[in-house]
Amino acid sequence: MATMLISGGRVIDPVSGTDRVLDVLVHDATIACIEPEISRADADREIDARGLIVSPGLIDPHVHLREPGQEHKETILTGSRAAVAGGFTTVCCMPNTVPPIDSPELVRFVYDRAAGAECRVFPVAAGTVGRAGAQMTEIRLLAEAGAVGISDDGDAIEQTGMMKSVLTATRAAGLTFMQHCQDPSLTRGSVMHAGAISTQLGLTGWPRIAEEIIIERDIRLVGDTGCRYHVQHLSSGDSVEIIRIARHNNLPVTAEASPHHLLLTDHSCLGYNTNAKMNPPLRESTDVEAIRQGIAEGIITILATDHAPHAPDEKALPFDQAPFGVIGLETALAAYAKALIETDTIGWPQLIELLTINPARLCNLDRTHRGEAGLGELRVGGPADLTIIDPDHTWTVTHSDLAGRSRNSPFIGESFGIRPVATIVAGRVRMNRLPTPV
Ligand SMILES: [Zn+2]
Repeated sequence: MATMLISGGRVIDPVSGTDRVLDVLVHDATIACIEPEISRADADREIDARGLIVSPGLIDPHVHLREPGQEHKETILTGSRAAVAGGFTTVCCMPNTVPPIDSPELVRFVYDRAAGAECRVFPVAAGTVGRAGAQMTEIRLLAEAGAVGISDDGDAIEQTGMMKSVLTATRAAGLTFMQHCQDPSLTRGSVMHAGAISTQLGLTGWPRIAEEIIIERDIRLVGDTGCRYHVQHLSSGDSVEIIRIARHNNLPVTAEASPHHLLLTDHSCLGYNTNAKMNPPLRESTDVEAIRQGIAEGIITILATDHAPHAPDEKALPFDQAPFGVIGLETALAAYAKALIETDTIGWPQLIELLTINPARLCNLDRTHRGEAGLGELRVGGPADLTIIDPDHTWTVTHSDLAGRSRNSPFIGESFGIRPVATIVAGRVRMNRLPTPV
């Protein structure tokens, strides 16, 4: 039995509306008390959090951990190291593994591996067998095995009839469908945003409508089926408008933005920089501005890294042959703050909401799940998952800051002004950059 006092921090919990200086007492894996000035005598050890933000543990609902099948890029264990380095206590991993997570056995495999991870890991399972789009998976059985969402991420479900069937089954299973919005007939050979830079570089462009047309179609199907539907890694400014209308019409539609789509544009591809090659592609400053505005207005309510590790030799290929994707867990919070806090787009309580309770609700993690109490908030009696953030911490990203297996970050060399300094998962300190050992 161990108790830990986190004293004097600015405690922000969007669910209860808390934003004030408080102490938090953790007893084993549970939050025992949240009050002003809890007696030190009650604690075996203490974290001095004066000047720091104490948040519910951060949740990333969209990462790629590459296990099974591509362990040279990342594993569930190495990905969980990247997660806690970035302040995340929970991640949800996508099913585009080898083989894809499309059966209850593979859902259980992820949970088995996750038992040894540094953070909580929950699997999202595929909606079609092999993610091939032709045959629906047994979605009810996937949910019973513990899948927290359904997605063929990496690809959209292209056939409209199949998409409708998958939405109907996903709704019946009580889950959310997460769509990778890309019409493949509009992106054949495309490797970056279609614009002046793709022309300059002589690369095949990827138009915004490839994303928008899938969202438009799917919103019709959401109206028809009532399934909760989530747009992954939104990249086009006009997609924000489409989602604004759907939410205005009270459809159960949510969307996420990724750090790179909040900070970078297709200019980063100049010099054929493969660490700026991602799917969907980096777009223009007008898109970045529209996505930030969509967050400020509460149209985009979730942030997600799309952490996509690739080996150095894969990213060293010529631009048109290199794989899509960048890592993001270790730098995510700093990047979100740079895009949203340092530009006065939103404040800390809203940023923390986008990173805790909203992704928890997306994946039903706010409810009791597999015998564990709900995640995403700070509640006495609830799980002691906490992230401690230094809101005034200047640092420059180097290779040694990347804790996962891959190094394909677009932010190496970038300077940031905030940093997570401690990650506590179920009462255990899994990352600690505080000046005093805990
Ligand atoms: Zn995707």
